[in-house]
Amino acid sequence: MNRKHFLQSMAFFPFVYKSLHADALNNLMANPDNGIKMPVLFLGHGSPMNAIEQNEFVTGFKNLAAKLPKPTAILCVSAHWETKGTFVTAMPKPKTIHDFGGFPQALFNVQYPANGNVQLANEVKSLAEPTNIGLNLDWGLDHGAWSVLIHLYPKADVPVIQLSLDYTKPPAYHYELAKKLQSLRNKGVLIVGSGNMVHNLRLVDWRKLNEPNYAFDWAEEASTKLKSLILNNNHNALMQYQSLGNALQLAIPTPEHYLPLLYTLALQNNKDQVTLFNDKAVGGALTMTSVYIHS
Ligand code: ZN
Repeated sequence: MNRKHFLQSMAFFPFVYKSLHADALNNLMANPDNGIKMPVLFLGHGSPMNAIEQNEFVTGFKNLAAKLPKPTAILCVSAHWETKGTFVTAMPKPKTIHDFGGFPQALFNVQYPANGNVQLANEVKSLAEPTNIGLNLDWGLDHGAWSVLIHLYPKADVPVIQLSLDYTKPPAYHYELAKKLQSLRNKGVLIVGSGNMVHNLRLVDWRKLNEPNYAFDWAEEASTKLKSLILNNNHNALMQYQSLGNALQLAIPTPEHYLPLLYTLALQNNKDQVTLFNDKAVGGALTMTSVYIHS
């Protein structure tokens, strides 16, 4: 068919053309429920060097990736983006942020050029209402996001947005906010919390970094307690972590590496299974324990 004939036939079928076009657009806009409920993850990210090293944790991330359905987009809640008020990244091309110092140049050379997803950012904002989420155009992808996503999707071919942690808010705020995002699991969105359950850098024994699964007694105690509460679905106790004793207070001296776990657990429903992996300690005072929630 030449162009003239094509245009003539289009003139006879403008309505059909329009509605097909509208359907295609609708599919793209709504990512309708395709029957697959996406898993939810909490990933212990540990040292930024995990982005470029080959070690047992990286193997754990790669093994996980092989089990995951390909998402339409990723929403990451990273320990490394704390703000006053909650924000979601809404730029089409988030930059790779190297938010650390004192590491080899090779780590600064890493780029994770995933696209953003402005439409998803707007959807997150409307799902959260009346809680206000601001659209952010300045951030990008910090290492809490890219140092782990690089092992799940090394081609950076899945769009990624980040949700910030409002440092002025109590644990229940984060848990309730995450619950409002439940419907995204039915739309192909992979929600990833990235932090560490036990994370006390001040007490890390840097000489013991290469000693496998080295944990101080208090770190071991805190890790055992946290895992037991997670596997028993005791989310209320996990939100009250500050009143769970001295070991927990040492394990979670500041909330930012712990709160992403609450976002992940809030998205668990009663048909889900909870699987732990990368369940090892590093340097005495940090655990890489990660959570895979799946139906
Ligand atoms: Zn971190």
